Amino acid sequence: MTNQTSQQLIALEEKYGAHNYHPLPVVLEKGEGVYVWDVEGKRYYDFLSAYSAVNQGHSNPRIIAKLKEQADKLTLTSRAFYNAELGKYEEFMTNLFGFDKILPMNTGAEAVETALKLARKWGYEKKGIPVGEAIIVVCKDNFHGRTTTIISFSNDEDARRHFDPYTAGFTAVEYNDTEALKALFQEKGKNICGFLVEPIQGEAGVNVPSEGYLTACKALCTEHNILFIADEIQTGIARTGKMLAIDHEGIQADVLVLGKALSGGAYPVSAVLANDDIMEVIQPGQHGSTYGGNSLACAVAREALQVVLDDKLADNAERLGKVFRSELEKLIEQFPLFKSVRGKGLLNALLINDTPESETAWNFCLAMKDNGLLAKPTHGNIIRFAPPLVMTDDQLADCIAIIQKTAAEFKS
Ligand SMILES: *Cc1c(COP(=O)(O)O)cnc(C)c1O
Repeated sequence: MTNQTSQQLIALEEKYGAHNYHPLPVVLEKGEGVYVWDVEGKRYYDFLSAYSAVNQGHSNPRIIAKLKEQADKLTLTSRAFYNAELGKYEEFMTNLFGFDKILPMNTGAEAVETALKLARKWGYEKKGIPVGEAIIVVCKDNFHGRTTTIISFSNDEDARRHFDPYTAGFTAVEYNDTEALKALFQEKGKNICGFLVEPIQGEAGVNVPSEGYLTACKALCTEHNILFIADEIQTGIARTGKMLAIDHEGIQADVLVLGKALSGGAYPVSAVLANDDIMEVIQPGQHGSTYGGNSLACAVAREALQVVLDDKLADNAERLGKVFRSELEKLIEQFPLFKSVRGKGLLNALLINDTPESETAWNFCLAMKDNGLLAKPTHGNIIRFAPPLVMTDDQLADCIAIIQKTAAEFKS
């Protein structure tokens, strides 16, 4: 069974695994920093970073050392008992993000579910919404995870179809449209407990809203006593050039949802942060998770965030993001294949000059793969570029050269 080729390993997944993903045909077995290697030993730049979970770089030595150290000591006790890591982690997280309390979970979808439950309970017990009538407002083209409730308010047919009946109590509003939000709040604000938003819509194709949009949303929420819930699972932890994407507008969420890079890709760790007047509506027995807040997760997440701070990854993302977009602008002038680039920090997307139904973006990703760079299309003709934030200037220049070379060779 040793030394199987990529072809053989792909065949295994095809045969024995559910077909719920459509991966690029590359089989990885090793990662270090911005690089990954396939089973044949070919090296690639990773421009996906596991959907921004690996901001600190693959197998970040500090995070892995902490993981091993804690794994040798204690991994899981459940919350039936206190553990020696949880309190320290909670103090660290609440200080870092400026909230009274944190509720630890594991995956992103679980943290979003937690935020939704928190908002509803707060709506009934604090805002005084009549029981059964709470509404949570979401944005069109959102992506918040894969649970039955979360896909209930998605408008992606693949994510939704035949998973019904859906959870009620959600209303979708156009993204980046403060007038629509204002009108909805004016009409139904009394029964609305929360507004759930991605500061940049990642899965929808790196949709960056207009400057001031999030500030206006937050103000409308405050005016109508509605919780502003920021899903920073993909945009947070330095990805967009600040610790949080909402930091670009200097606003604070009422409920903050984190995941992905919270552990630097070493372990599933997610979290919901809020102040006491909100978090106190959840009492013992009302919400939880066996693994949530486990010792291993707490130790890993604290180290993963300390790496982000010590290595100034937000500043690096901000600086390299500017270089990346300006270099891509030059390639857009040169190659009609490329339409435009958008993004913030190192969360960027290149739009390909073809229809969303075309295979062009996929084929371009295959061609980049052959030249040593891994990225994936999202929504047809959009390619997301999100490398680990530990990238250097020289490495980025090398990557731009690969994109340019691929474009020069490419025949669609
Ligand atoms: C990835 C993601 C989620 C879901 O996280 P999982 O860990 O895959 O459950 C939720 N919201 C956003 C914005 C995401 O990018």
